Amino acid sequence: MKVGLYLLLLYFGIVLHSCSATSTHPLHSTASLNDTIHDPHSYANFKAIKTVHLDLELDVNFQNKTIYGVARHEMKNNNASEAIFDMRNLLIQKVTTGKIGNEKEADFTIGKFDVDSILGQPLTVKVNAKTTQVNIYYQTTKGSEALDWLDTLSTSSKTKPFLYTQGQAILTRTWIPLQDSPSNRFTYNAKVKVPKDLLALMSATNPKEKNASGIYEFEMDQPIPSYLISLAVGDISYHPYTSTCGVYAEKELLDTCVYEFEELPKMISAASSLYGNYQWKQYDLLVLPYSFPFGGMENPRLTFVNPTILAGDRSLVSVIAHELAHSWSGNLLTNSTWDDFWLNEGFTVYFEQRIMEVLYGKEVADILAQIEFQELQAELKEILEGKHPEDTKLHLNLKNRNPDDGMTSVAYVKGAFFLKTLEVKVGREKLDQFLKEYFKKNMYKSVSSFSFVNELESMLLAPNKLSFDYDEWIYEKGLPSNCLIINSPRLRFMESFANRFIQGEDIFAPKISYEWLKLKNTRKKKRIEIREFFEKEEYIVQEWQTFIRTLSNKSITIPQLQYLDSVLNFSTSNNAEIASEWFVLNINCRNKVIRPNIEKFIAKVGRRKYLMPIYEALVKNPEDKVWAKNVFDKSKAYYHAVSRNSIAELFKD
Ligand SMILES: [Zn+2]
Repeated sequence: MKVGLYLLLLYFGIVLHSCSATSTHPLHSTASLNDTIHDPHSYANFKAIKTVHLDLELDVNFQNKTIYGVARHEMKNNNASEAIFDMRNLLIQKVTTGKIGNEKEADFTIGKFDVDSILGQPLTVKVNAKTTQVNIYYQTTKGSEALDWLDTLSTSSKTKPFLYTQGQAILTRTWIPLQDSPSNRFTYNAKVKVPKDLLALMSATNPKEKNASGIYEFEMDQPIPSYLISLAVGDISYHPYTSTCGVYAEKELLDTCVYEFEELPKMISAASSLYGNYQWKQYDLLVLPYSFPFGGMENPRLTFVNPTILAGDRSLVSVIAHELAHSWSGNLLTNSTWDDFWLNEGFTVYFEQRIMEVLYGKEVADILAQIEFQELQAELKEILEGKHPEDTKLHLNLKNRNPDDGMTSVAYVKGAFFLKTLEVKVGREKLDQFLKEYFKKNMYKSVSSFSFVNELESMLLAPNKLSFDYDEWIYEKGLPSNCLIINSPRLRFMESFANRFIQGEDIFAPKISYEWLKLKNTRKKKRIEIREFFEKEEYIVQEWQTFIRTLSNKSITIPQLQYLDSVLNFSTSNNAEIASEWFVLNINCRNKVIRPNIEKFIAKVGRRKYLMPIYEALVKNPEDKVWAKNVFDKSKAYYHAVSRNSIAELFKD
């Protein structure tokens, strides 16, 4: 997942709707949770009994914003007397055991919500040693936070509604009752009924176009963890780049998407040449409506993408490189619990930068890394001064906390810099060889920091007689002193422009000089005009970010901001990275002139990475806070719960 390196200090706010049914057949047994303690975020007893295949029957009803479902779990039973599933804010109608045609109603209980209702509730079904099939009949509720139901006006078409799911980290249990732990993998099939004018897509084999029945069937025959089950329903069209990769979007956006992601086939071959063949058969993108709270989500075979990536100049495609990289790190090989999220994300950021290096060169990859490193440093400082300084370790202990607390740049960027520093120590060739073998050997498995370190020792360090202090990186706070430092000359150049501007120099004004030319018997004066800032044809987005960030650290006046905007048009930039940083700077400097631009932006974009810093800057000043609350109230119905709940926290007194 690409969340943007925004510190998630806040839990997803939890709204309880008291919708969970209580069984009419109470089961008089105490659920033993002892065998599940290895994953602190799941109640499932999958050591005793675990799902190996899931068959879903789903009826997607847009009128009452509800999915009516049956989750048929094919299970491997190790002499269990009960099967425990995770659920949150679901209505359970009944539970049966046995195959279709031979089903028997089973006793079940629904446990209490845990403190803060992070985990939801355990659904405990009575089984016997021979039970291999458990069927749960259920429906979703308003509290099913994985689901984002968008009314027609929030879509590009403005005529058809849209639904998408976001399962990571532990939201899949809010739309499917299942054993919701990344340490368990299973295959799945689904039969999904949707309104006839809409297309359904999943992280599985997908249709290319709508059919007349509105019924779609899906198969994912490679085992995946539960958070990667995903569904999207809308008026969606498809454009293939090759027979195995393409892009889905609402048709109003499709042409823009096709241009923006044209280099996708090249990216896939670059990634495959680095880390072994792409294993998931098909790789498609689905561009979602603007309310999607993340940059991208690596649902296998069908990456979900935020439309803010559509900058018009392919400048933000590193998000695609990131999601594609997850096809190896995360999807083939998964963190066994959310305490080791860095094994998913740190590796992925490292891979992302390697893919970008193949496509755009080392200089650009270094710039990307340096920008992210700056964000890491700022966030480390904040976490070290906060309630949980231990969150700056790579391996976390998130027991009794929301796993989303671990979605910080520590997992992403400190994780990536661990590998970058290791690369310098052991050499790129050896590291690449290790990573390739490591992925091949552990395909479709879950890994912990402990098992990774064992592999690192036995496959890379010991055979080459090398040492590397991985313990300091993984188990200690902050950044180790051996961390690689990147210093891009292009970013230094932008910093110096910004500094000169703040000191009063008009960096855009031409510099005029004269030169005398000798012509036969006479001399002629030649005027030479240099526009230093505009000498270079274009700057990449990270250069602009550096320019704005340098201004943010200094004292800049409102007339200076307005002059910059008149030359560089930041306020109307199509690039959300640039626009959002510019807005924050202007809010902090109390430049209210661009409020209409800010309002337009935050009413359209639902991505939390952009919204949070803007709202956080606004709530600092009482007058801005009143204005921001008004904008939020108008926009909140459109935001996904992930963004809406985080922003709502800011307005709590
Ligand atoms: Zn990611």
